[in-house]
Amino acid sequence: MRKLASIQEIIDIKSIENADAIELAIINGWQCVVNKNDNFKVGDKIVMVEIDSILPPAPEFEFLKDRKYRVRTIKLRGQISQGLVLPISYLPKGNYNIDDDVTEIIGITKYEPDEDNDANKKVITNKKWVKKYIPDVVLSFMFSHFPKLSKKLFTNTVIKKGFPDFIYKTDEERIQNLKNLINEVAGMKFVGTEKIDGSSETIYLKDNKFYVCSRNNHIDKDDGSKYWQVVKEQDIESKIRKYFKNRNIALQGELCGEGIQGNKYKIKGIDIYIFDIFDIDKQEYYNQYEVERITKEIGLKSVPIIYRDFVLSNNINEILKLAEGKSVVNNSNIEREGIVWRLAVPENNKVRISFKSISNKFLLKNE
Ligand code: ATP
Ligand code: MN
Repeated sequence: MRKLASIQEIIDIKSIENADAIELAIINGWQCVVNKNDNFKVGDKIVMVEIDSILPPAPEFEFLKDRKYRVRTIKLRGQISQGLVLPISYLPKGNYNIDDDVTEIIGITKYEPDEDNDANKKVITNKKWVKKYIPDVVLSFMFSHFPKLSKKLFTNTVIKKGFPDFIYKTDEERIQNLKNLINEVAGMKFVGTEKIDGSSETIYLKDNKFYVCSRNNHIDKDDGSKYWQVVKEQDIESKIRKYFKNRNIALQGELCGEGIQGNKYKIKGIDIYIFDIFDIDKQEYYNQYEVERITKEIGLKSVPIIYRDFVLSNNINEILKLAEGKSVVNNSNIEREGIVWRLAVPENNKVRISFKSISNKFLLKNE
């Protein structure tokens, strides 16, 4: 789980040209604009509230009301600011240590673009009698006003069965939180793939049966969702069976296109870009070059590799700069979201070193 708010230390304070009231606090790889009045000092233990946090609607966060209490990337006096720094005195009295998760204490929730709903949007019901006798307008009204009740009444109940516990959910940590790791892996060779902004999909074969999942749930074959649509259109089941025979294997990719996250790459219909192949029995990932080769061989797309055998330094700002650039997805040429970095040829495929650097240019444009 991502710690949206945690105890951290201020490692540097920088002044901002022509600004009297504000200054920059550096926390791990993040820089945040803070109020000089708060009098933060290097070495102070503080609460670091990361971007995508939604703060409780308390009076002290009134200034975020118009932004629906969401912490975003902003630019102030030419400086990027990411996150909110709170004095530790904001918390109830107690003994707090670096890295302690205080998300719940503050009452922070996470901003989610609601991907599951996105890809499922069109389908309101999968029950035949409902489709036949209840008009769409009535269903739409019911689902938007009484979602829980409507799900119970109008859909088959077996749709969601959670996520398989023998496959990892897809997730990437932000480089700004990985100061120590970066110091250790600097000088090693990495592969950087374009981070594509769609919905995570997991497709797997287990004991000869074929399954499809969204980021967090199994998806029922008959509910007409985009997760299955792409599988059917691209004949993914037989492609996987043909290549992997009866092995237990999972493919994980980003589902994009019409009706998903605004279809920013202007894809006709829907498409999927594979970023992981996972051997369920060995509990091992294939490396990124193998993913590229195998997907090509079976006739699927992989996420585009932007940096090959690229030696990373331990300079976080440099790695953030590398995240900036144009997307190569569908020749869209829009600002790309960022890069996901992985060790080029890991010695051990069980523990993976992998993280993301999100383009600040992208964040500023899109928020
Ligand atoms: P955060 O953790 O920052 O709050 P989040 O949990 O929504 O955000 P994402 O920012 O979506 O995570 O980053 C991880 C996701 O990125 C993966 O789950 C995967 O679906 C998606 N993704 C897109 N492109 C790639 C890629 N090239 N390599 C790996 N994952 C990718
Ligand atoms: Mn995450």
